[in-house]
Amino acid sequence: MTSTTTLPGWTHTYSGKVRDLYVPDGSASTAGLGDVVLVVASDRVSAFDHVLDPGIPGKGIVLTQLSLWWFEQLADLVPNHVVSTDVPAAVAGRAMVCRRLEMFPVECVVRGYLTGSGLAEYRVSGSVTGIALPAGLVDGSRLPEPIFTPATKAELGEHDENVPFETVVGKLGAETASSLRALTLAVYGRAEAIARERGVILADTKLEFGTDPTTGAITLGDEVLTPDSSRFWPADLWKPGRAQPSFDKQFVRDWLTSSASGWDRASDAPPPSLPADVVERTRHRYLDAYARLTGTSLSV
Ligand code: ATP
Ligand code: MG
Repeated sequence: MTSTTTLPGWTHTYSGKVRDLYVPDGSASTAGLGDVVLVVASDRVSAFDHVLDPGIPGKGIVLTQLSLWWFEQLADLVPNHVVSTDVPAAVAGRAMVCRRLEMFPVECVVRGYLTGSGLAEYRVSGSVTGIALPAGLVDGSRLPEPIFTPATKAELGEHDENVPFETVVGKLGAETASSLRALTLAVYGRAEAIARERGVILADTKLEFGTDPTTGAITLGDEVLTPDSSRFWPADLWKPGRAQPSFDKQFVRDWLTSSASGWDRASDAPPPSLPADVVERTRHRYLDAYARLTGTSLSV
């Protein structure tokens, strides 16, 4: 099991697959206006909805620093949850003090290219979350225009489920659903252009928004545009019709599904420990993504 760091002044309240959340001591059960939450990115890596062992050293710092960089690039498009990076020494570099949002139970996914669960849906129905697409698209095809393909956040242990826009309207109302779609597409447009200038294709990404209880404003939360939440492909190697090389944990997924791992994904068995070279190559990929996108390198 994962263990969380004890942080002076903060009470641990929640751990997801990758992040640990803390609130200031004494405020755990009295969420109210103006509250903050400490979002700590761990080095944990998940694949196929399993948290793997060991983690990827430095990954939490890459996720946090890259998110902070993107929040700045997007600041004029959408308010974000970051309050400060003045965090306890034990989590320096991999944590941010954030406004505590009421998160919408919707994963705001946007796709400019077709792959993954979008491709799987397209092969069955010719559409993705009800959005009809032209015939003849293949793995890695660029879409005629970016599409908003939301998913509902799964209960613990379940997979997220792609849903039509109408389902978001049903959950959140037409106005909020339309705002989330517009903001998500705007973020993609900006980020895709920035990444492209740097030789990186942003194939798709997932955003999470919430309501800031002090202002009522729809606010961008969680992590943004990291290799965990996005597919980044080296533009010079892009070739539709096959799986694309990517700056994420593809090594991890490929190793797990190869005969070398001895793991049966369909079984109930937990995945085996990652070998050192898979950990190292994955670490390198995350650092490379940071360096290419931001133009500066991180030493972790
Ligand atoms: P799950 O939420 O299902 O556990 P996960 O495994 O992806 O998903 P993590 O990403 O590890 O979870 O944890 C981050 C959690 O913190 C998410 O539930 C996310 O919605 C939540 N979160 C992110 N930013 C904020 C914020 N500003 N206020 C409140 N919750 C937030
Ligand atoms: Mg998450």
